[in-house]
Amino acid sequence: MTVGRDNLLMADGPGNRHANEILLIEDSVALSTLLTQRLEEETGAAVTRCGSMAAARGKLQERSFMLALSGLNLPDAPNGEILNLLDEAGVATIVFTARFDVNAREKYAEKKIIDYIVKDGSRTVDTVVNTVRRFCTNNAYRILVVDDVRTARSGLTDILNRQNFQVLEAHSGRQALEILAGDDTIELVITDYHMPDMDGYELTRRIRETRGSEEIRIIGVSSSSDRLLSASFLKAGASDFIYRPFVPEELQCRIDNNIETLTQLKHLRRLAERDHLTGLANRRHFFDRMRNLGADALSGSIALLDIDHFKNVNDSYGHDVGDRVLVTLATVMEKMCAAGRHIPARLGGEEFAIFLNKADAFQSHSFCEELRRAIEEANVPTGNSKISVTVSIGVVEIEPGETFSNQMNAADQLLYLAKANGRNRVYSSLTLPEAMRSAAPSV
Ligand code: GH3
Ligand code: MG
Ligand code: MG
Repeated sequence: MTVGRDNLLMADGPGNRHANEILLIEDSVALSTLLTQRLEEETGAAVTRCGSMAAARGKLQERSFMLALSGLNLPDAPNGEILNLLDEAGVATIVFTARFDVNAREKYAEKKIIDYIVKDGSRTVDTVVNTVRRFCTNNAYRILVVDDVRTARSGLTDILNRQNFQVLEAHSGRQALEILAGDDTIELVITDYHMPDMDGYELTRRIRETRGSEEIRIIGVSSSSDRLLSASFLKAGASDFIYRPFVPEELQCRIDNNIETLTQLKHLRRLAERDHLTGLANRRHFFDRMRNLGADALSGSIALLDIDHFKNVNDSYGHDVGDRVLVTLATVMEKMCAAGRHIPARLGGEEFAIFLNKADAFQSHSFCEELRRAIEEANVPTGNSKISVTVSIGVVEIEPGETFSNQMNAADQLLYLAKANGRNRVYSSLTLPEAMRSAAPSV
């Protein structure tokens, strides 16, 4: 996976970090060249290189950086002095060292280094690139820290901020539930066990009533020595558990693992729910969403679209151009649907559907007429020319008490009539009498 520039721009946090600049301080020209190339290619970041502490000082005076990557021992700073400089400059730092030792690790903890990487040959560059990439993408994740003790909360928040996460805090289970109710972008909750109003298990259970582990990860924490605590947290629905005091590396690995799991689950869900060519909802997901809306919330209209003479497009220009037509049509639909919170879907082949949220017969008819025109006007380039297609549309307003499948059938009948009466037209209850009169017996 490559991180786009957008992710990096989001890393422009409160520390006045430059959006996507990395300061690389390393005296080995070979390592520095390789790292620069890989980082620029794979993270989209701009890398500024220095081979000494003096040069690094100069660069830091000129401007601020999103991140510094530094070797520990430099020609003019043989004992890790560079860490003091980076610490004073307040820049998030990843260190590479020749070997891991306990004293060095203590020093990193003091200086609030966000990570250290042990140089172990061929894997070093991959590890650095992955760490930088994670740092950049962390900014897209919102984490809620729940603890009744202010210092415990802020300690954890500091660690998470340093890792470039967005962090929110709650001082009680109740406040956590309130925040979660109003914010569905939080994807990780880290909660203490002992809290006066509601313990961590109860909070976990309540969150799980509405949100599964593929939507939100929950990590329980406690300083209690009771080993059963972790089992109980997991049984209540937590994804993981960490004992206090934190070993920062363990905390970081567990958070990274949970985020990785969440990312993979989201990816799988996307594969299952989306049409692979156009990215629209697929047939099953569209039907599921309609069913989940429930009869009461199902107020609006349903439109069915079918491309006219699409077989001719494939026959004349080839399947690839046909595919491009489908993608173009999906893009037009998506653009028009976004504003009204309508739900477009590809039901299969060249058939599409839209749930027109809260749209009555008049509104949905005029929406479909506008869509029909927009599709007619959209051009798809084919080598040296451009082609366009037309669609026929049947649309019905959903009647209270009617089943979803009956409504789909009704829209399908209208679509059939639109085809039979010449194609490139919208049929709805508003055009029904005319449609009935002129319906041809066969297509
Ligand atoms: P009508 O106006 O009556 O709807 O005629 P039509 O040619 O559009 O309808 P028909 O059902 O005869 O043909 C649909 C064509 O859509 C046949 C099929 O090869 C093509 N098709 C279905 N799925 C895809 C796809 O994913 N990509 C491409 N390029 N073509 C597809
Ligand atoms: Mg067709
Ligand atoms: Mg068809």
